[in-house]
Amino acid sequence: PTMANSTVTRTFVLPQQPLDDAKENLLIGPDKILGVSSCARKATTTTVKTTVARKLSLGGTKNGQELEKIESIACTEKNGTMGGDDGRILVFVRLRPMAKKEKEVGSRCCVKIVNKRDVYLTEFANENDYLRLKRLRGRHFTFDASFPDSTSQHEVYTTTTADLVEAVLQGRNGSVFCYGATGAGKTYTMLGTVDNPGVMVLAIKDLFTKIRQRSCDGNHVVHLSYLEVYNETVRDLLSPGRPLVLREDKQGIVAAGLTQYRAYSTDEVMALLQRGNQNRTTEPTCANETSSRSHAILQVVIEYRVKDASMNVINRVGKLSLIDLAGSERALATDQRTLRSLEGANINRSLLALSSCINALVEGKKHIPYRNSKLTQLLKDSLGGACNTVMIANISPSNLSFGETQNTLHWADRAKEIRTKACEAN
Ligand code: ADP
Ligand code: MG
Repeated sequence: PTMANSTVTRTFVLPQQPLDDAKENLLIGPDKILGVSSCARKATTTTVKTTVARKLSLGGTKNGQELEKIESIACTEKNGTMGGDDGRILVFVRLRPMAKKEKEVGSRCCVKIVNKRDVYLTEFANENDYLRLKRLRGRHFTFDASFPDSTSQHEVYTTTTADLVEAVLQGRNGSVFCYGATGAGKTYTMLGTVDNPGVMVLAIKDLFTKIRQRSCDGNHVVHLSYLEVYNETVRDLLSPGRPLVLREDKQGIVAAGLTQYRAYSTDEVMALLQRGNQNRTTEPTCANETSSRSHAILQVVIEYRVKDASMNVINRVGKLSLIDLAGSERALATDQRTLRSLEGANINRSLLALSSCINALVEGKKHIPYRNSKLTQLLKDSLGGACNTVMIANISPSNLSFGETQNTLHWADRAKEIRTKACEAN
């Protein structure tokens, strides 16, 4: 395999016997994969036409009657993540529940998700005049899907990422990144908890279930790595040690020496990721007690062999990157001194570089400034390469986070215009 030239490689292997589902054992065995099923099935994007009849309760205003109406909206919802038209980045918003602390200080909810796609930002709890908000710039946003605070982890996974997993199994690249202020729910969405595992864990679980279900003429070999970019330094989260150097090779930018891990079960992957997350750099700042200032990237690489038309065996590689970005709150919101300020500058540098790249991509510029930060180098593939990309913008409902939420929604809105290149198999 060409993948692992500069990396320490350990491989996952699938067993011959179907595994006991209850135990959720996904992987065993030393060297090769036995009896894995055909991967000929194409990734499908099912388009479901749904008629959503919903009542917008707009009462309480003078012309409430006029505003109160039942809207019957025929919306074509994409059931899944494949084929954002023209390689468009698919953008989702997830609202988290109001936190206890936020309730205690009497904060009000300033975000309303009125249907499966539309988000309104209101300053006042009683502001129910959606038609007015619709006219106000920066107050009304439409995304591929908007998840209210009651949305389960599973629903978020199936809507945003399940189809990417299918695509990766066909040798394509996919990436999902969570963007938003500290405390907005990025890590919850990506990693989740033991009881409510997030996208990273559900994706891996689904991946192995899918591999197991196929009868395949090739072998599937899966590698898992987890790294962080903190203060413009790249670190291995699964085996902490010296900083890693980024190098460009055939596969794109790789972190030299990054450990590729073998796992045996979903539970184990969860434990591995949680341990990895504990290795993430979190430091107290004035804005938050523990503010996650590092960007974490989980990479799952699947290699397998298929026969081409002339019956030659060819190697295919699919890569899924799952990214939990550092808090996007503006540096000004935190009291930065010496180290903190350097750190803040670098966090800013990475996220600023990300914004510049997004802007350059949206404007169709020839030069995209990926080289400006480690994060953008690592995300080069996901943003401008042959990759199906999904962005999940996480937001808090509290009016105390109004500015941050507006900022997050602004960037999410902008990201909708990015188009990645063809989504072909590697
Ligand atoms: P971030 O990673 O963006 O800084 P976290 O994911 O750590 O934010 O979320 C902050 C807090 O809110 C955590 O205690 C987390 O468990 C909780 N939380 C976030 N999203 C949800 C959700 N959808 N449902 C329930 N709790 C959530
Ligand atoms: Mg976090």
